Amino acid sequence: VGDLGQKIILYLNFVEKAQWKELGLQALPPGLMVVEEIISSEDEKMLLESVNWAEDIDDQNVQKSLKHRRVKHFGYEFHYENNNVDKDKPLPGGLPDIWDSILEKWLKEGFIKHKPDQLTVNQYEPGHGIPAHIDTHSAFEDEIVSLSLGSEIVMDFKHPDGVTVPVMLPRRSLLVMTGESRYLWTHGITPRKFDTVQASKGHKGGIITSDVGDLTLSKRGIRTSFTFRKVRQTPCNCSYPLVCDSQTKQTSPSLPGSAREASQLEREHVHRVYEEIAGHFSSTRHTPWPRVVDFLKALPSGSLVADVGCGNGKYLGINQDLY
Ligand SMILES: [Zn+2]
Repeated sequence: VGDLGQKIILYLNFVEKAQWKELGLQALPPGLMVVEEIISSEDEKMLLESVNWAEDIDDQNVQKSLKHRRVKHFGYEFHYENNNVDKDKPLPGGLPDIWDSILEKWLKEGFIKHKPDQLTVNQYEPGHGIPAHIDTHSAFEDEIVSLSLGSEIVMDFKHPDGVTVPVMLPRRSLLVMTGESRYLWTHGITPRKFDTVQASKGHKGGIITSDVGDLTLSKRGIRTSFTFRKVRQTPCNCSYPLVCDSQTKQTSPSLPGSAREASQLEREHVHRVYEEIAGHFSSTRHTPWPRVVDFLKALPSGSLVADVGCGNGKYLGINQDLY
């Protein structure tokens, strides 16, 4: 029985032998670094207590209850409609003072090269996630860093060629994304309550290898991330024009002139989008729509049903008398 009291059916599938692609030599995405134990437990406690989630419940601009997590912005407001910031409208107050000495220390020790001017605080409860994305190039400079407090989590990095690298972000660690890992790879957190992590002690931050003998499950806790970015004042001129909004020509939409153009359009704006969001889409859709359930239950026993585009198959078990 699930959290909400509804009955959950667990299906157990197995194969005798799986084709296993050796990924022994996996490396972190270029430009990515995880600095462990960058903050003491005392500072962690103080920083977590410094976030006042209650104060701005009425202020829609500051406290946005995104479907899957709590968010607060400092320095500049981040707009989820266009994934960008209002560069002419910095928020009053800037970053909270509490961060001054910490950022200075990170600069001095070389973990960061630029002083950030925008902070986004996200709180993830177990089961929450964030869809895979690249931070908008034109909105922020190269260096993006994120401090994980309260609990560890696994973040998935994905290269456009399909390679996915799960990266463990331990509690009190700093994730530093620069270069290719910031501009070309997407990053996201799968909404789930457990992560697959390395079983061996001593291994903490960084890549989770696919060594099945050394994996175990870790129950997620409440993780609060503090992501620091520097707002970009000039267009991005990175070396990844294909994913760079500053370098993509803004052409007005036109009707495709040939079947080839049409199918290119479909590949780009339908297939590619679904490929990108499929994992997240599936893991957030398990509640059957009541109308569809009524329809399936109303069919005579022995009826044949084709569920075209059935996603994760959530309607398969609704009526046992259908084929
Ligand atoms: Zn760019």
